[in-house]
Amino acid sequence: MKFRFITGAAFLFLSFNGFAQDGLFKQETHFTHQDTLRGSITPERSWWDLTYYHLKVEVDPENKFISGKNDIQYQVLEPSKILQIDLQPPLKITKVTQDGKELEVNHQGNAHFVSLEKPQTKGATNSITVFYEGQPKEAVRAPWDGGFSWKKDDNGNDFIATSCQGLGASVWWPCKDHMYDEVDSMDISITAPKGLMDVSNGRLTNTTTLEDGRKTYTWSVKNPINNYGVNINIGDYVHFSEVFPGEKGPLDMNYYVLKDNLDKAKKQFKDAPRMMKAFEHWFGPYPFYEDGFKLVEVPYLGMEHQSSVTYGNKFENGYLGRDLSGTGWGLKFDFIIIHEAGHEWFANNITYKDIADMWIHESFTNYSENLFVEYYYGKQAGAEYVIGTRKDIKNDRPIIGVYDVNHEGSGDMYPKGGNMLHTLRQLVEDDEKWRQILRGLNETFYHQTVTTQQIEAYLSQETGIDLTEFFNQYLRDIRIPTLEYKFENNKLKYRWTNIVEGFDMPVQVDLDGKNQWIYPNVKWKSLKVKTEELTVDPDFYVYSKQL
Ligand SMILES: [Zn+2]
Repeated sequence: MKFRFITGAAFLFLSFNGFAQDGLFKQETHFTHQDTLRGSITPERSWWDLTYYHLKVEVDPENKFISGKNDIQYQVLEPSKILQIDLQPPLKITKVTQDGKELEVNHQGNAHFVSLEKPQTKGATNSITVFYEGQPKEAVRAPWDGGFSWKKDDNGNDFIATSCQGLGASVWWPCKDHMYDEVDSMDISITAPKGLMDVSNGRLTNTTTLEDGRKTYTWSVKNPINNYGVNINIGDYVHFSEVFPGEKGPLDMNYYVLKDNLDKAKKQFKDAPRMMKAFEHWFGPYPFYEDGFKLVEVPYLGMEHQSSVTYGNKFENGYLGRDLSGTGWGLKFDFIIIHEAGHEWFANNITYKDIADMWIHESFTNYSENLFVEYYYGKQAGAEYVIGTRKDIKNDRPIIGVYDVNHEGSGDMYPKGGNMLHTLRQLVEDDEKWRQILRGLNETFYHQTVTTQQIEAYLSQETGIDLTEFFNQYLRDIRIPTLEYKFENNKLKYRWTNIVEGFDMPVQVDLDGKNQWIYPNVKWKSLKVKTEELTVDPDFYVYSKQL
């Protein structure tokens, strides 16, 4: 059974400011040289491939100061001499060495060009060490603006966390700050203030106590990890855990929360194994068994940090208690546990190369919320949920942003992207095939960084439908296809308007008392009918308008 609502009046008119007639939406074009250095694969990045990082940082909340170093190991793809490292002021690189020898660095804003001295032979594995320190940018509204959150818990203990999607990891540590090249593995050694613990990504492999009583926690990540996924979380943590019987065997699930929240967390985090069960069903095995799964309490809302998903949703269902879908289904689960953990498949397993393609992270993860609802409450409930999120679609800018300048597309990548995928599922019209496509994506692009072209081509190939215009319409344009129709002399006349060139998506309608497919395109078509009533299946994210 499908959920239905009356679409008789469910259409809107859009004004098309700033958008070329018939063409695709015109994107913003003023970007700086710094945007290009940050957002493109510069020659000083392309010649080397990251293999390993060992990041070591001491955190001093009293002075809001950090200091440390990053050992950056890389393989030489093409011989070259200049290597770009990113680190954002006010943090300062104090020294860069290779084989113990200090190297010259040419600083250009956030980008730092290291002059290497020893020959860089193709195929060789080399490393440099970047020493740095300073007061990192403070996050004002984490996780959106990013940086360090220097907070206190209710008992007056320091409660510290990093977040940096968009802005980039170079806001707090020196790295190759472009998404195309994920490091293969990483160790993170964090020295926390006395009495407090650090929780970062992967597994805790070593704890050492310094002479002054502070402890250094070393966390090891065995899988490729994207820059913004790396995180520091410091607090007065307590720990509990469980083993989830997953598709690839026993999966360690570890939870770190502030001491006072242990009881609440033990109840609320029951959503974590529920999430794991539903998402392994839809998307395939959790992608990071070697690193385990963690939920870590933080002083901000939450973020998809790989294998250490951060949580600040106040131990209640919904999104800070609200149902984003307005249907009631959004209060059946903890939004942050479900959404941020959904990113383990779409963001951490399959990762965009360029943030312009962020829909690959957010559209699929928005969509995962309704698949979670469907898994536990049925297909109708899931559909109601995703359709309910349409109220937040703005159609202000395209979902895809501008390439090579670190530019995100519209926030519509969440609800509109989710509804685009829900619409695509209707076209596939085979739930098991659709599930295998979602699982196939995670298998085919396992631990990879990708472009939208790869994902679009995969979906066209696996669905057997040429989706070129479908994606142009929903990802690169702001218009919503509108089914115009009228009844004349026992005939239904219908066509698509507000479409990109070549858009001809079939759509299901209730007509003459039955649910049937019609095949509109830009030209008027007609169909003999007995009754003069048409309802577009609400599972399709389109508008309709009777003339
Ligand atoms: Zn997200």
